Amino acid sequence: MKKKIFGSIMLIATTVLIASFVIIIGYLYTYFSSAEKQHIKDELNLACSAVELNGIDYLEKVESHRYRLTWIDAEGLVLYDSVADAKELENHADRAEFIEAMAYGEGESSRYSSTLLEKQMYVARRLKDGSVLRISIGVATVGHLVLGMLQPFVTVLAVALLLSLLFANYLSKRIVEPLNKLDLDSPLENEGYDEIAPLLVRLNQQRLKIDAQMRNLRRHADEFRQITASMREGLVLMDTRGTILSINPAAQRLFRADEDCVGEDFLTVDRDPGIIAIVKEALATGHGEMRAERSGQVYQFDVSRIESEGEPIGAVLIAFDITETERAERHRREFTANVSHELKTPLQGIIGSAELIERDMVRPEDMQRFVGHIRNEAQRMVTLIGDVIRLSQLEEGADMPVEPIDLFSLVKEVARDLEDLAQERGVDVAVKGESVTINGVRLLLYEAVSNLIDNAIKYNVEKGSVRVKVTSDNDEAKIVVRDTGTGIASEHLSRIFERFYRVDRSHSKASGGTGLGLSIVKHAVQYHGGKVDIESEPDHGTEITLIFPLTNHLDHIVAGR
Ligand code: ADP
Repeated sequence: MKKKIFGSIMLIATTVLIASFVIIIGYLYTYFSSAEKQHIKDELNLACSAVELNGIDYLEKVESHRYRLTWIDAEGLVLYDSVADAKELENHADRAEFIEAMAYGEGESSRYSSTLLEKQMYVARRLKDGSVLRISIGVATVGHLVLGMLQPFVTVLAVALLLSLLFANYLSKRIVEPLNKLDLDSPLENEGYDEIAPLLVRLNQQRLKIDAQMRNLRRHADEFRQITASMREGLVLMDTRGTILSINPAAQRLFRADEDCVGEDFLTVDRDPGIIAIVKEALATGHGEMRAERSGQVYQFDVSRIESEGEPIGAVLIAFDITETERAERHRREFTANVSHELKTPLQGIIGSAELIERDMVRPEDMQRFVGHIRNEAQRMVTLIGDVIRLSQLEEGADMPVEPIDLFSLVKEVARDLEDLAQERGVDVAVKGESVTINGVRLLLYEAVSNLIDNAIKYNVEKGSVRVKVTSDNDEAKIVVRDTGTGIASEHLSRIFERFYRVDRSHSKASGGTGLGLSIVKHAVQYHGGKVDIESEPDHGTEITLIFPLTNHLDHIVAGR
């Protein structure tokens, strides 16, 4: 803008100067021409009077370097010329000023020299004797005048241009300065030119609009950040070239990156060609997905294309931690395989024995043993199926009858029911403690305690003992089952609550175990909001403690009745 103002001022100054020069030259020329003409007319009048008085004598005495005097007779013959030899001059009868003077008494004309820079002005007058006296003078042409004025003009032009330059510089600065100082953040508070007031009002409106839009955008961005920050899933937004636009904290943890990776290529946070391939696939087809492991966890990566007005503008990657689902799926598969296997073994035993009996291949004295075997195997299947049903009930959180249960009485009841087994194995079972009541499911608690005491008898030694104690404090009730049996090596301790996990497979099977007992114990205790502790020392014995909170989530069921 400053340049434009400066240029305009300079252009105007130059144009004005040149125009002034042309006009002045025009006026000067007209003025000087008419003054000159008047002057030579006066000179001619004097000369005419003198010639009429003294004839050629006067002319020969006149000494003039400026004027040229020519005396011509009525025929045009030059009688005298102050510059050239009259005899050598041609006839002047055809000269315009001569013809005019002959006709009207006075005549004038002017002729340019070949260079056009000089002009000869002629004024002629007829004398009384009919001859014509002509005076001529070289006068400056416009060109001559221009050339003559050139130096002062250039000087004036230079001075004027210099002044204009300074003035233009000063003026353009003064005009632009207030504009540069405009406070665009509060346009209406500016004082300056009234002419730009409408512009400032418009600017203010635009600013308010932009402010509102910015606030809106910021709010959306904040909302987006808050939502994505609290997401458990990793979320990465990318443009079509794979540059990261946004990455939430879950994704930062997953890819071991930080906020600084925004603006970087996704390759810098994860070099897995699989993920790069699904991003490309999503950009091309709309969707891509894969499963992969990161830091020991299994993730499902889903990538979807983002479009705007039908054009792909980027992709969003969501990473779900599916470790638990995967584990649950694997457990379910293993569980099904285990149950099938566990059922198949006794069934094969039953079928084998039945076939032998059917073909009369069993001696009568062995018949009893075979039938007993069939009965035992069938019993094992029933127990297994019962355990499987119980486990699935527990896992599905099925509704079971809740009632106040005195744990001490329940434990004594279990011990009584297992008395025969204990006697059979030569194990001494003793229960002591105090009465403590919690709200719970009788069947589950019975099975949990029964499984524990059953194991304590089964995995005990000849003449071993089982000590069961029921205690309570302000918050908890505890059932401790301690035996003097085989104990469990520490490497198995963390796994014995898994379904079908057995430390000694043959011992477990021989004693009718299904491998589901402790799993049921754990789930049953958890169902009551409690937990299980275990301590064991191989060859010395095992102590398993069930801890129940005195108040649990089942209380409201009982209270609501
Ligand atoms: P099982 O039907 O085989 O008894 P459990 O789930 O009850 O299945 O127990 C899992 C395994 O833990 C058993 O196979 C056994 O090896 C071990 N175990 C459980 N209780 C005891 C115990 N009191 N003493 C020693 N080992 C035990």
